[in-house]
Amino acid sequence: MEKKDTDINKVVRQHAEMDMFFTGGFGLKGESDESLQADSALKFETGGAMSTESSTGLKEITDEVNKCRQCELSDSRKNAVPGEGSPSARIAFVGEAPGADEDAQARPFVGRAGKLLDKIIIAMGLKRGDVYICNILKCRPPDNRDPKPDEITKCLPFLQQQLETIGPEIIVALGAHAARTLLETNKPIGQLRGKFHEYYPSMTAKPIKLMATYHPAYLLRSYSPENRRKVWEDMQKVLTELGMEVPSR
Ligand code: URA
Repeated sequence: MEKKDTDINKVVRQHAEMDMFFTGGFGLKGESDESLQADSALKFETGGAMSTESSTGLKEITDEVNKCRQCELSDSRKNAVPGEGSPSARIAFVGEAPGADEDAQARPFVGRAGKLLDKIIIAMGLKRGDVYICNILKCRPPDNRDPKPDEITKCLPFLQQQLETIGPEIIVALGAHAARTLLETNKPIGQLRGKFHEYYPSMTAKPIKLMATYHPAYLLRSYSPENRRKVWEDMQKVLTELGMEVPSR
């Protein structure tokens, strides 16, 4: 009992420290999750200059995703989760697949991992609405199991079209599934993260720089100052590559 209490305290303290790491110094200290969520919803509406052409293109892809019945995930989903953000985003964050919260709300990264992603984006000096956020799979795998290869094969064209339409300067692949799928490799995320790779949305399109990093859900599970530092270093490289100011921590 005593040991369990200690463990719970440790987890609570670690999560509070992680919050501080990604929000400290950016005016969010003490803000509740609810206010952060309201803030990001507001910024999502107002963020980013709109390109009519890419916003029309994205809308068409969204409609196709919502109609898609190509695999069994469409039978178990409550909602498809196409993606959201600025049609002229310079950075696109790509995760693995929607979880229960995302499935319920039809929006990517709105659960616990999403709140951490929001904090990382804010720590970068950006707003959620400045970037584009989506996943490899557009529907939730039951019990959050790993995506199956045939599901990825069927779903990937949607992501390729999204990336070609937006034309971000940098893709941030969140976690092993996103990084390995986009880079067509089986290398571990520990080897892929921290450096720029090239992603080709199609045979004819220009390559897009891709930075792989740890998934926010992994950060939540494997709390360590080292892992947080690695993710922050990866994001610093992204900002530097874009010629953007790197906020000091
Ligand atoms: N994890 C993901 O990879 N994507 C989401 O949208 C949410 C959690």
